[in-house]
Amino acid sequence: MTFDTIDLIKPLMLAVRAAGYTTPTPIQAQAIPPGLAGRDLCGQAQTGTGKTAAFVLPILQRLATTPGTGGIRVLVLAPTRELAGQIHETFQKLSVNLPKIRSGVVFGGVSERPQQMMLRQGVDVLVATPGRLLDLGNQGYVQIKNLDVLVLDEADRMLDMGFLPDVRRVLRQLPTQRQTMLFSATIPDAIEKLAKELLKNPVRISVTPEQPTVERIQQTVHFVERSRKKALLAQLLASPGVSRAVVFTRTKHGANRLAEDLAKVNIYAQAIHGNKSQKARTVALDNFKSGGIRVLVATDIAARGID
Ligand code: AMP
Repeated sequence: MTFDTIDLIKPLMLAVRAAGYTTPTPIQAQAIPPGLAGRDLCGQAQTGTGKTAAFVLPILQRLATTPGTGGIRVLVLAPTRELAGQIHETFQKLSVNLPKIRSGVVFGGVSERPQQMMLRQGVDVLVATPGRLLDLGNQGYVQIKNLDVLVLDEADRMLDMGFLPDVRRVLRQLPTQRQTMLFSATIPDAIEKLAKELLKNPVRISVTPEQPTVERIQQTVHFVERSRKKALLAQLLASPGVSRAVVFTRTKHGANRLAEDLAKVNIYAQAIHGNKSQKARTVALDNFKSGGIRVLVATDIAARGID
């Protein structure tokens, strides 16, 4: 199957090509056609499967080919600011040839001002973490009465992170007549229940990567005394086979201390965690992606949603 066999309008076809996508991933092949037909979707898929473009493409096509009635037309809820940012980037990348479509992103931990101004100017697509969306909604900045499409991404993580009450609060404000798509890596009972409430006669899709990440990763355990832990880590990180590494710590403080200790043995590392400003986190991630830094030290919460 190729993208040519999917009925995408030209501006999207060109954007797909410019993004370097040649063949649809399995989730895209299964989700885009019913998505284009306006069906509700329940997709079981992890990050890395191409699930973002699987909902972004049908949404952009709908926006480009049908008129809106004012206000936000598409709302995407995501659990973390990193994931929200990545989804927003995908919307921007794939709508390059559709200049009339405006998308925006809001998440907590940064000033509300620029987000309020962006919402005042109006957007067609809003990607949001639930808490900040509610805050801005309470202040009157979010008009979602005329919503056409709702997406819940990484629903199981939203559940894990305790966001379900916030999500339900948002849902109560939405029109019932809409297209809804739910994506989740796992479908525990609570998500199944949510899906039943939210989705009308959904198309169910499940993709498991041919090689799940955990199988591609060789896992080893080292038993070591606490006092020798840092020296062993430094030795592992210095070995030639390690071009880039992410080190997870339990606490934010531990992440900072470890990054400092690694610097003392000439391993340049940056820490990312919830206490760092969004800017600092973005800079550290960009540096890591571009190869500017080899080692990222992260608390697990901060690492969520990283592609
Ligand atoms: P996602 O699972 O949505 O986070 O996507 C994972 C990565 O795959 C992203 O970096 C996308 O840009 C990329 N991607 C998505 N769809 C395709 C495709 N059809 N071909 C090649 N790469 C893709």
